[in-house]
Amino acid sequence: AINRNLDQIQGKVNVSFEFFPPKTAAMEQTLWGSIERLAPLAPAFVSVTYGANSGERDRTHDIIKSIKQRTGLIAAPHLTCVDASKEQLIEIAKDYWRNGIRHIVALRGDLPPNSISKPALYATDLVEILRSVADFDISVAAYPEVHPEAPNAQFDLLNLKRKVDAGASRAITQFFFDIEKFLRYRDRCAAIGIDVDIIPGILPVTNFQQLEKFARLTNVAVPNWMHKAYQGLENDSQTRNLVAANMAMEMVKVLSREGVDHFHFYTLNRCELSYAICHLLGVRPPVAMAV
Ligand code: FAD
Repeated sequence: AINRNLDQIQGKVNVSFEFFPPKTAAMEQTLWGSIERLAPLAPAFVSVTYGANSGERDRTHDIIKSIKQRTGLIAAPHLTCVDASKEQLIEIAKDYWRNGIRHIVALRGDLPPNSISKPALYATDLVEILRSVADFDISVAAYPEVHPEAPNAQFDLLNLKRKVDAGASRAITQFFFDIEKFLRYRDRCAAIGIDVDIIPGILPVTNFQQLEKFARLTNVAVPNWMHKAYQGLENDSQTRNLVAANMAMEMVKVLSREGVDHFHFYTLNRCELSYAICHLLGVRPPVAMAV
Protein backbone atom coordinates (compact mmCIF):
# COMPACT_ATOMS: atom_id res chain seq x y z
CA ALA A 1 0.00 0.00 0.00
CA ILE A 2 2.88 2.35 0.77
CA ASN A 3 4.35 1.89 -2.68
CA ARG A 4 0.94 2.15 -4.39
CA ASN A 5 0.66 5.63 -2.90
CA LEU A 6 3.74 6.63 -4.92
CA ASP A 7 1.64 6.30 -8.09
CA GLN A 8 -0.87 8.81 -6.80
CA ILE A 9 1.56 11.47 -5.63
CA GLN A 10 3.67 11.70 -8.80
CA GLY A 11 3.87 15.35 -9.79
CA LYS A 12 2.15 16.55 -6.63
CA VAL A 13 5.08 16.83 -4.25
CA ASN A 14 7.03 20.00 -3.42
CA VAL A 15 10.57 19.94 -2.15
CA SER A 16 13.08 22.43 -0.80
CA PHE A 17 16.80 22.07 -0.17
CA GLU A 18 18.95 23.51 2.56
CA PHE A 19 22.66 24.26 2.12
CA PHE A 20 25.35 25.79 4.30
CA PRO A 21 28.18 28.20 3.39
CA PRO A 22 31.23 26.12 2.44
CA LYS A 23 34.50 26.66 4.28
CA THR A 24 37.05 25.55 1.66
CA ALA A 25 37.44 25.73 -2.11
CA ALA A 26 36.81 21.98 -2.37
CA MET A 27 33.62 22.28 -0.33
CA GLU A 28 32.56 25.19 -2.50
CA GLN A 29 32.89 23.00 -5.57
CA THR A 30 30.81 20.28 -3.93
CA LEU A 31 28.14 22.85 -3.09
CA TRP A 32 27.85 24.18 -6.64
CA GLY A 33 27.87 20.66 -8.09
CA SER A 34 24.97 19.84 -5.78
CA ILE A 35 23.03 23.00 -6.58
CA GLU A 36 23.40 22.40 -10.32
CA ARG A 37 22.23 18.82 -9.97
CA LEU A 38 19.24 19.67 -7.76
CA ALA A 39 18.10 22.91 -9.47
CA PRO A 40 16.34 21.16 -12.41
CA LEU A 41 14.05 19.48 -9.88
CA ALA A 42 12.43 22.93 -9.53
CA PRO A 43 12.33 23.09 -5.73
CA ALA A 44 9.80 25.47 -4.17
CA PHE A 45 12.83 27.23 -2.69
CA VAL A 46 16.36 26.59 -1.52
CA SER A 47 17.81 28.03 1.67
CA VAL A 48 21.27 28.79 2.99
CA THR A 49 22.04 28.66 6.69
CA TYR A 50 23.77 31.34 8.70
CA GLY A 51 25.64 30.26 11.83
CA ALA A 52 24.47 32.53 14.62
CA ASN A 53 27.44 34.34 16.14
CA SER A 54 29.70 33.29 13.26
CA GLY A 55 29.78 36.74 11.67
CA GLU A 56 29.35 35.11 8.26
CA ARG A 57 26.07 36.71 7.27
CA ASP A 58 27.69 38.22 4.18
CA ARG A 59 28.78 34.78 3.01
CA THR A 60 25.23 33.52 3.30
CA HIS A 61 24.05 36.54 1.34
CA ASP A 62 26.73 36.04 -1.37
CA ILE A 63 25.70 32.44 -1.91
CA ILE A 64 22.03 33.42 -2.02
CA LYS A 65 22.79 36.04 -4.67
CA SER A 66 24.80 33.56 -6.76
CA ILE A 67 22.09 30.90 -6.52
CA LYS A 68 19.51 33.43 -7.71
CA GLN A 69 21.72 34.55 -10.59
CA ARG A 70 22.85 31.09 -11.69
CA THR A 71 19.60 29.17 -11.30
CA GLY A 72 16.73 31.66 -11.00
CA LEU A 73 15.44 29.67 -8.02
CA ILE A 74 13.83 31.31 -5.01
CA ALA A 75 16.71 31.47 -2.55
CA ALA A 76 16.04 32.15 1.12
CA PRO A 77 18.75 33.22 3.55
CA HIS A 78 18.48 32.02 7.15
CA LEU A 79 18.62 34.99 9.50
CA THR A 80 19.13 34.84 13.27
CA CYS A 81 18.32 37.51 15.83
CA VAL A 82 20.27 36.31 18.86
CA ASP A 83 23.37 38.13 17.66
CA ALA A 84 21.94 41.44 16.38
CA SER A 85 20.03 44.44 17.65
CA LYS A 86 16.59 45.40 16.41
CA GLU A 87 18.09 48.33 14.49
CA GLN A 88 20.66 46.07 12.80
CA LEU A 89 17.97 43.58 11.84
CA ILE A 90 15.88 46.34 10.28
CA GLU A 91 18.89 47.40 8.18
CA ILE A 92 19.63 43.79 7.14
CA ALA A 93 15.99 43.29 6.18
CA LYS A 94 15.93 46.48 4.10
CA ASP A 95 19.15 45.45 2.39
CA TYR A 96 17.76 41.98 1.59
CA TRP A 97 14.55 43.50 0.21
CA ARG A 98 16.53 45.97 -1.95
CA ASN A 99 18.49 43.01 -3.32
CA GLY A 100 15.35 41.20 -4.39
CA ILE A 101 15.25 38.71 -1.54
CA ARG A 102 11.64 37.98 -0.66
CA HIS A 103 11.85 34.79 1.41
CA ILE A 104 13.67 34.56 4.74
CA VAL A 105 14.02 31.67 7.20
CA ALA A 106 13.66 33.54 10.49
CA LEU A 107 15.37 32.05 13.54
CA ARG A 108 16.51 33.05 16.96
CA GLY A 109 19.80 31.12 16.72
CA ASP A 110 21.52 29.23 19.49
CA LEU A 111 22.73 31.14 22.53
CA PRO A 112 26.50 31.51 22.84
CA PRO A 113 27.99 28.79 25.10
CA ASN A 114 27.79 29.57 28.85
CA SER A 115 25.48 32.52 28.33
CA ILE A 116 23.51 33.28 31.47
CA SER A 117 21.25 36.16 30.46
CA LYS A 118 17.99 35.66 28.57
CA PRO A 119 18.09 36.69 24.92
CA ALA A 120 16.68 40.12 24.09
CA LEU A 121 14.96 38.83 20.98
CA TYR A 122 13.19 35.60 20.07
CA ALA A 123 12.22 34.38 16.62
CA THR A 124 8.72 35.86 17.07
CA ASP A 125 10.32 39.30 17.45
CA LEU A 126 12.33 38.73 14.28
CA VAL A 127 9.19 37.78 12.34
CA GLU A 128 7.55 41.01 13.56
CA ILE A 129 10.60 43.06 12.59
CA LEU A 130 10.72 41.54 9.10
CA ARG A 131 7.00 42.14 8.63
CA SER A 132 7.41 45.76 9.74
CA VAL A 133 9.99 46.29 6.96
CA ALA A 134 8.32 44.57 4.01
CA ASP A 135 5.99 41.81 2.93
CA PHE A 136 8.53 38.98 3.21
CA ASP A 137 7.60 35.33 2.82
CA ILE A 138 8.79 33.94 6.16
CA SER A 139 9.59 30.40 7.26
CA VAL A 140 10.21 29.53 10.91
CA ALA A 141 11.52 26.53 12.83
CA ALA A 142 9.35 23.92 14.56
CA TYR A 143 10.31 21.15 16.97
CA PRO A 144 8.25 17.92 16.97
CA GLU A 145 10.36 16.71 19.91
CA VAL A 146 10.29 20.08 21.73
CA HIS A 147 13.09 22.67 21.65
CA PRO A 148 15.66 21.87 24.36
CA GLU A 149 15.19 25.21 26.16
CA ALA A 150 11.38 25.14 26.25
CA PRO A 151 9.88 24.65 29.72
CA ASN A 152 7.36 22.19 28.26
CA ALA A 153 5.80 20.97 25.01
CA GLN A 154 2.73 23.18 25.26
CA PHE A 155 4.83 26.33 25.73
CA ASP A 156 6.89 25.42 22.68
CA LEU A 157 3.79 24.72 20.61
CA LEU A 158 2.31 28.09 21.61
CA ASN A 159 5.62 29.65 20.63
CA LEU A 160 5.15 28.29 17.11
CA LYS A 161 1.63 29.69 17.08
CA ARG A 162 2.98 33.11 18.07
CA LYS A 163 5.49 32.96 15.20
CA VAL A 164 2.73 32.10 12.75
CA ASP A 165 0.38 34.75 14.16
CA ALA A 166 3.24 37.27 13.76
CA GLY A 167 3.33 36.49 10.04
CA ALA A 168 5.25 33.29 9.25
CA SER A 169 3.82 31.39 6.31
CA ARG A 170 5.26 27.94 6.99
CA ALA A 171 7.21 26.00 9.58
CA ILE A 172 10.12 23.69 8.84
CA THR A 173 10.81 21.04 11.44
CA GLN A 174 13.97 19.98 13.12
CA PHE A 175 15.04 16.59 11.75
CA PHE A 176 13.44 13.57 13.42
CA PHE A 177 13.32 9.80 13.00
CA ASP A 178 10.17 8.89 14.89
CA ILE A 179 7.40 9.47 12.38
CA GLU A 180 4.67 9.06 14.99
CA LYS A 181 6.09 12.02 16.92
CA PHE A 182 5.93 14.19 13.80
CA LEU A 183 2.35 13.17 13.04
CA ARG A 184 1.21 13.77 16.61
CA TYR A 185 2.92 17.17 16.55
CA ARG A 186 1.21 18.08 13.29
CA ASP A 187 -2.15 17.15 14.83
CA ARG A 188 -1.44 19.27 17.90
CA CYS A 189 -0.49 22.23 15.66
CA ALA A 190 -3.81 21.91 13.83
CA ALA A 191 -5.70 21.55 17.13
CA ILE A 192 -4.44 24.90 18.45
CA GLY A 193 -5.18 26.65 15.17
CA ILE A 194 -1.79 26.73 13.45
CA ASP A 195 -2.98 26.78 9.87
CA VAL A 196 0.30 26.82 7.92
CA ASP A 197 2.22 23.88 6.44
CA ILE A 198 4.37 21.98 8.93
CA ILE A 199 7.10 20.82 6.58
CA PRO A 200 9.16 17.85 7.76
CA GLY A 201 12.92 18.40 7.72
CA ILE A 202 14.47 15.25 6.26
CA LEU A 203 18.05 14.41 7.17
CA PRO A 204 19.54 11.46 5.32
CA VAL A 205 22.08 10.16 7.84
CA THR A 206 25.40 9.30 6.24
CA ASN A 207 27.54 10.03 9.29
CA PHE A 208 25.98 8.31 12.27
CA GLN A 209 28.60 9.34 14.84
CA GLN A 210 28.14 13.00 13.97
CA LEU A 211 24.38 12.53 14.12
CA GLU A 212 24.52 11.12 17.64
CA LYS A 213 26.31 14.26 18.85
CA PHE A 214 23.95 16.57 17.05
CA ALA A 215 20.87 14.68 18.23
CA ARG A 216 22.01 14.97 21.86
CA LEU A 217 22.38 18.75 21.48
CA THR A 218 19.03 19.19 19.81
CA ASN A 219 16.96 16.78 21.90
CA VAL A 220 16.12 14.52 18.97
CA ALA A 221 15.61 10.84 19.80
CA VAL A 222 17.70 8.34 17.85
CA PRO A 223 15.76 5.06 17.98
CA ASN A 224 17.49 1.83 18.85
CA TRP A 225 16.83 0.35 15.42
CA MET A 226 18.96 3.12 13.94
CA HIS A 227 21.88 2.30 16.19
CA LYS A 228 21.58 -1.31 15.04
CA ALA A 229 21.33 -0.30 11.38
CA TYR A 230 24.61 1.61 11.46
CA GLN A 231 26.43 -0.82 13.73
CA GLY A 232 29.66 -2.09 12.14
CA LEU A 233 29.58 0.45 9.31
CA GLU A 234 31.96 2.95 10.93
CA ASN A 235 34.53 2.44 8.15
CA ASP A 236 32.14 1.64 5.31
CA SER A 237 30.74 4.86 3.90
CA GLN A 238 29.39 3.15 0.78
CA THR A 239 27.05 0.90 2.75
CA ARG A 240 26.20 3.75 5.13
CA ASN A 241 25.00 5.78 2.14
CA LEU A 242 22.77 2.95 0.98
CA VAL A 243 21.34 2.50 4.47
CA ALA A 244 20.78 6.27 4.75
CA ALA A 245 18.98 6.42 1.40
CA ASN A 246 16.79 3.45 2.27
CA MET A 247 15.84 4.90 5.65
CA ALA A 248 14.99 8.34 4.30
CA MET A 249 13.01 6.80 1.43
CA GLU A 250 10.95 4.75 3.86
CA MET A 251 10.29 7.89 5.85
CA VAL A 252 9.11 10.01 2.93
CA LYS A 253 6.92 7.17 1.68
CA VAL A 254 5.10 6.90 5.00
CA LEU A 255 4.88 10.68 5.39
CA SER A 256 3.50 11.16 1.89
CA ARG A 257 0.86 8.52 2.59
CA GLU A 258 -0.04 10.64 5.62
CA GLY A 259 -0.67 13.60 3.35
CA VAL A 260 2.69 15.38 3.53
CA ASP A 261 3.25 17.07 0.17
CA HIS A 262 6.33 19.20 0.88
CA PHE A 263 9.66 17.86 2.11
CA HIS A 264 12.61 20.00 3.19
CA PHE A 265 15.98 18.27 2.78
CA TYR A 266 18.97 18.97 4.99
CA THR A 267 21.38 18.26 2.13
CA LEU A 268 24.62 19.04 4.01
CA ASN A 269 25.62 20.33 0.56
CA ARG A 270 25.49 16.83 -1.01
CA CYS A 271 23.04 16.05 -3.76
CA GLU A 272 23.09 12.28 -4.28
CA LEU A 273 20.69 11.12 -1.59
CA SER A 274 18.26 14.02 -1.87
CA TYR A 275 18.20 13.56 -5.64
CA ALA A 276 17.45 9.84 -5.35
CA ILE A 277 14.69 10.40 -2.79
CA CYS A 278 13.14 13.11 -4.99
CA HIS A 279 13.25 10.75 -7.96
CA LEU A 280 11.31 8.18 -5.97
CA LEU A 281 8.74 10.84 -5.04
CA GLY A 282 8.31 11.68 -8.72
CA VAL A 283 10.15 15.00 -8.39
CA ARG A 284 12.20 14.90 -11.57
CA PRO A 285 13.80 17.21 -14.13
CA PRO A 286 11.50 18.13 -17.02
CA VAL A 287 11.76 15.57 -19.82
CA ALA A 288 13.11 17.14 -23.01
CA MET A 289 10.26 17.18 -25.53
CA ALA A 290 10.95 15.69 -28.94
CA VAL A 291 10.22 18.25 -31.67
P1 FAD B 1 12.47 30.55 19.07
O1 FAD B 1 11.27 30.20 18.29
O2 FAD B 1 12.66 31.96 19.50
O3 FAD B 1 12.48 29.58 20.34
C1 FAD B 1 13.67 29.38 21.11
C2 FAD B 1 13.33 28.83 22.48
O4 FAD B 1 12.85 29.88 23.31
C3 FAD B 1 12.25 27.77 22.50
O5 FAD B 1 12.55 26.87 23.54
C4 FAD B 1 10.98 28.56 22.83
O6 FAD B 1 9.98 27.75 23.40
C5 FAD B 1 11.55 29.59 23.80
N1 FAD B 1 10.87 30.89 23.81
C6 FAD B 1 10.30 31.55 22.77
N2 FAD B 1 9.84 32.74 23.18
C7 FAD B 1 10.13 32.86 24.49
C8 FAD B 1 9.94 33.87 25.47
N3 FAD B 1 9.34 35.01 25.18
N4 FAD B 1 10.39 33.64 26.75
C9 FAD B 1 11.02 32.50 27.06
N5 FAD B 1 11.24 31.49 26.18
C10 FAD B 1 10.80 31.69 24.91
N6 FAD B 1 20.53 28.08 13.77
C11 FAD B 1 21.44 28.93 13.25
O7 FAD B 1 22.26 29.49 13.98
N7 FAD B 1 21.50 29.16 11.89
C12 FAD B 1 20.64 28.61 11.03
O8 FAD B 1 20.73 28.86 9.82
C13 FAD B 1 19.65 27.71 11.54
N8 FAD B 1 18.73 27.13 10.73
C14 FAD B 1 17.75 26.34 11.26
C15 FAD B 1 16.77 25.82 10.40
C16 FAD B 1 15.76 25.00 10.91
C17 FAD B 1 14.71 24.47 9.97
C18 FAD B 1 15.72 24.68 12.30
C19 FAD B 1 14.68 23.76 12.86
C20 FAD B 1 16.69 25.20 13.15
C21 FAD B 1 17.70 26.05 12.65
N9 FAD B 1 18.67 26.63 13.49
C22 FAD B 1 19.63 27.47 12.96
C23 FAD B 1 18.69 26.33 14.93
C24 FAD B 1 17.94 27.38 15.77
O9 FAD B 1 18.53 28.64 15.65
C25 FAD B 1 17.98 26.91 17.23
O10 FAD B 1 17.21 25.74 17.40
C26 FAD B 1 17.61 27.96 18.26
O11 FAD B 1 18.03 27.51 19.55
C27 FAD B 1 16.12 28.29 18.34
O12 FAD B 1 15.71 29.02 17.27
P2 FAD B 1 14.13 29.29 17.00
O13 FAD B 1 14.05 30.16 15.82
O14 FAD B 1 13.39 28.01 17.01
O15 FAD B 1 13.82 30.13 18.34
